[in-house]
Amino acid sequence: MTVEAREKIFVTKPYLPPKEEYLAYVDRIYESGQLTNAGPLVCELERVLADYLGAEHFQYVTNGTIALQLALKALGIEDGEIITTPFSYVATTSSILWERCKPVFVDIEPDNFTIDVSKIETAITPDTRAIMPVHVFGYPCDVDGIQKIADKYGLKVIYDAAHAFGSVYKGKSLVSYGDISTLSFHATKLFHTVEGGACIVKDKDVSAKLDLIKRFGHNGDEHFTLGINGKQSEFHAGMGLANFAHIGEIKAKRKAITELYDSLLGGKLQRPANKNGLEYNYAYYPVLFESEEQLLRVFEKLNSEGVYPRRYFYPSLNKLPYLKEYTPCPVSEEISSRIACLPLFVDLSGEDVEFITKLIKEAL
Ligand SMILES: *Cc1c(COP(=O)(O)O)cnc(C)c1O
Repeated sequence: MTVEAREKIFVTKPYLPPKEEYLAYVDRIYESGQLTNAGPLVCELERVLADYLGAEHFQYVTNGTIALQLALKALGIEDGEIITTPFSYVATTSSILWERCKPVFVDIEPDNFTIDVSKIETAITPDTRAIMPVHVFGYPCDVDGIQKIADKYGLKVIYDAAHAFGSVYKGKSLVSYGDISTLSFHATKLFHTVEGGACIVKDKDVSAKLDLIKRFGHNGDEHFTLGINGKQSEFHAGMGLANFAHIGEIKAKRKAITELYDSLLGGKLQRPANKNGLEYNYAYYPVLFESEEQLLRVFEKLNSEGVYPRRYFYPSLNKLPYLKEYTPCPVSEEISSRIACLPLFVDLSGEDVEFITKLIKEAL
C-alpha cells in the first residue's frame, strides 16, 4: 500500500463504544433532564468504578489534572515542597506549581522509570509536605518503601495513578495505595470518559472534604470553605459507562497487541523490567532505543510511512523552562532522550503491528 492510501497510525486512538450503547445513555439523560451536579449517571459510574477498583471513597472529577490539585487541597497542602518524579506528563509538575507548592525532583529507577526510593530521604527538608510519585506507564512504584518514608517523616503520599487503571499489584488495585491516588479518564487513556478523572481517597473525612471543594465548597446557602468546579457531566459519565461495559475486551486486545510486538521485535529493543506481583494493565508500549540518534532514525523512517509514535516522556520535567531552578536528574534525562511509546490501541490490527515492527527493524 502507498503511504497516501494507508491510514495514518498515531500512538493512540480513542476507544469508541458502539454508538447505540452511548445513545441509550443519552436517552436516559433526556428522560431525567439532569445534565450535571451529581446526576444519576455520575453516581452510577462512581459506584461501578469504585467497585471495580476496590475503592471505598471514590470521587469522579473533570480531569486528571484537577484531580491532582484537589488532592493537594483536600490534604490541606497549601505551600511547601512536594517530592516528585521528573519522568511523567507535565501535569504532575504543573499541578504542584499551580497550587503554589515547590516541586522537588528525585531521579528515577532505570529499569521501570518510577521514582528511586533510595534517593527520597536526602531530598526531605523541614518544608517537605508530601511525596507525589507516578506509576508511570502503569508500572508500580515501590509502594512499601515510599509509605515507610512517609510514615517516618509524617508526609502525605499522593500517587499520580493516571496510567494505573486496571493494574493490580500485590493482590490489590494499584490505585489503592497512598493517601490519595488520582486517575485520568482522558480520551487517550486506557479507560476514558472523553475528559475526566478521579480521586481514590483513603480517609473518609478527606474524601468528604474533596467532595465539598469539587463543588465550590458550599451546601445550598451555607459556605464552608474555598472550592472550585471539579464536577463532571452526565454525558461524560454516560460515555464512561458505555466504555466500561467493554473493559474486559479492551484489556484483552491491548495484551494481545503487546504480546505480538514482543514476539515480532524479538528483544531487539529494551523494555521495562518485569515486576514481581504485578498484573499489568497494558496501558502503554514503551521501548528504549540505544541512543537518541537511533530513536530519531527510527522515527524518521516511521513518520515517512505515516506512523507516529510519541516521545513519552520528553523532556524530563526537571528541565521545564519555567522552573525557578534546575535540579539535575541524570537517569531521567538520559532515559527521556531515548524512550518512546509505540502505537497501542484497540483498533490497531495485527497487520499494523507487523508493518510497524518491520519498519523499526529496517531502520535499526
Ligand atoms: C494524562 C495525565 C495526566 C493529566 O490528566 P488529564 O485528564 O489530561 O488532565 C496527569 N498525569 C499523567 C501521568 C498523565 O498521563
